[in-house]
Amino acid sequence: AAKRRGRNTLLLFRQDMALAAQTKLRNIEELRRAIDEQQFHLEYQPLISVETGRVFGVEALVRWNHPTRGRVPPADFIPLAEETGLIVSIGDWVLRTACAQAVAWGEEGLRPLTVAVNVSARQFREKGLHASVAAALSKSGLSPERLELELTESAIMEDVPTALFTMNALRGLGVHLAIDDFGTGYSSLSALKHFPVRRLKIDRSFIRDIPRDQDDIAITAAILSMAQKLNLQVIAEGVETEEQLAMLKEMGCKEAQGFLIGRPASPQAVAERLQGEADSAAG
Ligand code: C2E
Ligand code: MG
Ligand code: MG
Ligand code: MG
Repeated sequence: AAKRRGRNTLLLFRQDMALAAQTKLRNIEELRRAIDEQQFHLEYQPLISVETGRVFGVEALVRWNHPTRGRVPPADFIPLAEETGLIVSIGDWVLRTACAQAVAWGEEGLRPLTVAVNVSARQFREKGLHASVAAALSKSGLSPERLELELTESAIMEDVPTALFTMNALRGLGVHLAIDDFGTGYSSLSALKHFPVRRLKIDRSFIRDIPRDQDDIAITAAILSMAQKLNLQVIAEGVETEEQLAMLKEMGCKEAQGFLIGRPASPQAVAERLQGEADSAAG
């Protein structure tokens, strides 16, 4: 009986595997179609200066509106896009769209903003990234210093010498670099010194339990103090409460991003917010 059960389990296991493989193939097919049929759009989340509350930039975040499944969050499709390499063409579209949007806001009369674009590990490894960034800049006419590329610690640490070469080449285009989700990877502090990055983004997981969690406060304080010594700007991600913002301000954190400050929003909503800021400054 045990043997039979074993065999049945194996059969079920095989069916499971086959089903999983089918589902995956279907997902890949759908992701490919999403690119062709332009089912993606971008939302933009404000980045503010803590001191003034003013928006100095936005982070572009990709959104997939699936014809039947509705909104699919990036966490549910970026990993597959990474694995299949489809992230390269999605990323290229994101870059072109975000740069074009930044220019379009300017044409509407809004003051210049920094636009931050996420670059995944796979994109960062691909030789074509430099050309893709250069093309997005030249097609849109965006001045390079207004584009900031967000890299992850793990993408950089995978192969530090190559990463350094790529980062320097990107800096050569005039764009800025940031390290996203900082603190979750394992950046060696000595390597950090050599990276041509301008900003660290403290990961949301360290901000979430501030001001309650003393360890998270200590980690955030350590990042802030180290960044100051290395001359890096720091933004806190995932700020959701007034208490967090007040504590971060007290700790000397100069920049923030999070639902408290603004949720990712359409280009129109961003324009209205900036217009509102301009009006209140004038009035
Ligand atoms: P990320 O780059 O760290 O982006 C910040 C994520 O945190 C966004 O999730 C944003 O909506 C969310 N967030 C912002 N403030 C808060 C807050 O106060 N509370 C909470 N709970 N969440 C907050 P989203 O848009 O779901 O994106 C998740 C991740 O997917 C991003 O993390 C990024 O790694 C990746 N991603 C998004 N767009 C792109 C893209 O265009 N290209 C690539 N390669 N990756 C992207
Ligand atoms: Mg990011
Ligand atoms: Mg992040
Ligand atoms: Mg992230």
